[in-house]
Amino acid sequence: MSRCLAGGWSGFEACESVPPFPLVEKREKKKSARFLWVHHHHATEMMDVPWRCSGILIIQRQRKGVFDKPGFCFVQRVPMSIQESVCLKSKNWFQTGGTARYYAAPATEAAVVDAIQFASTNGLKIVVLGEGANVLFSDEGVDGLVISPKNTQIVCDAEGASITAGAGVSMPYLINFALARNLLGLEEFSGIPGTVGGSVYINIHYFEFMLGQFLTAATVINLKSGTALRVDRGWFGFAYNQSTLQGHEWLLFDATFALRRGTDMEAAYARGRQHEIERHRHRRYPTARTCGSFFRNFLPDELNAIVGQKKVPFVAYYLEKAGVKGELRLGGASVSHLHANMIVTEEGATSADVVAVSRVMQIRVRELCGLTPQPECRLIGFDAYPLL
Ligand SMILES: Cc1cc2nc3c(=O)[nH]c(=O)nc-3n(C[C@H](O)[C@H](O)[C@H](O)COP(=O)(O)OP(=O)(O)OC[C@H]3O[C@@H](n4cnc5c(N)ncnc54)[C@H](O)[C@@H]3O)c2cc1C
Repeated sequence: MSRCLAGGWSGFEACESVPPFPLVEKREKKKSARFLWVHHHHATEMMDVPWRCSGILIIQRQRKGVFDKPGFCFVQRVPMSIQESVCLKSKNWFQTGGTARYYAAPATEAAVVDAIQFASTNGLKIVVLGEGANVLFSDEGVDGLVISPKNTQIVCDAEGASITAGAGVSMPYLINFALARNLLGLEEFSGIPGTVGGSVYINIHYFEFMLGQFLTAATVINLKSGTALRVDRGWFGFAYNQSTLQGHEWLLFDATFALRRGTDMEAAYARGRQHEIERHRHRRYPTARTCGSFFRNFLPDELNAIVGQKKVPFVAYYLEKAGVKGELRLGGASVSHLHANMIVTEEGATSADVVAVSRVMQIRVRELCGLTPQPECRLIGFDAYPLL
């Protein structure tokens, strides 16, 4: 009973008589009152309300041995747009992990704000999710609300060369959209999966290019207050693998990118480059059931601490030397035979398998050069940080 009440009340309403719900469970009886519980399936079936609720609690107070007229309250209203107990396996590239207690996929700013308000009313932690190309959910899942923005509109500035894309737009789609209008620059990120939201969050990079260099403005929404702000590039504090979004206080709602308008010839060349990058990536990297590079490269100040090895920043270099590529396998997770820094899973794998493999990778690199690689992949829903 206490778990239900902790979720919040919609208010106590007196009713003339006990509503005709099947009272499937009788949870508690005290001297002064009795509490009867109506399961949410029955509650939502029988009440004409624009939201679901976890259940209805019917309360009858007892005075002088006689029970009062009953009153009832809805326990934890859930807006229709919010789903409960959603399996996360199909929502991330590793295809592992437990369930989200609540899940919302808002397409408008108002719907994002509604979801934030629901979380705040019910004291729920919020996790923002894009396409799940760079996350590992724990096998226990997320005891909170997962918000996956699905605003997929793209607005192209007809005169200039800028595009504003919703956080839910997939980057490969955006690149094709831009190239079809002779807008150049983003093709450098061809073959990188993910949404605009997740890509700005990590400031996706490929060789010398970083997404942040193209971003000029964005709309972000505060995850506590629901307030929307229009911000510029400076606000993001972009660096390698870094942006302000990583403070987990803001949700990116849309982003504006300044591109270069090219001639037909230049656009054809850019499309050729796009195909060449994609071909190259398909040859060199696994393209399913992985999060791409699991560990980030070493930062310049970390390199000074490397012992007994060349001071190479690429973590894959050390992993390859450590002999894990194509060799290390624990449960349903293994290090890809194509790339030493990429973990792949197979049917039946758990997130615990991925954690086990990545810990061994950390230990092997530490033994080799004295530094412990740190994940680029975001670990979500773990009670305690599971890596070294
Ligand atoms: C095969 C493969 C190859 C890859 N190659 C590269 C590569 O070359 N370069 C590179 O940089 N990355 C690469 N990645 C990593 C991945 O593509 C990027 O990190 C991508 O941008 C993740 O986007 P996503 O929508 O899937 O984000 P998710 O994985 O869903 O989320 C990642 C993080 O972003 C946050 N987030 C998501 N959306 C929002 C939002 N709207 N507002 C605020 N926070 C948000 C999440 O909370 C989470 O912490 C690769 C991944 C794969 C699977």
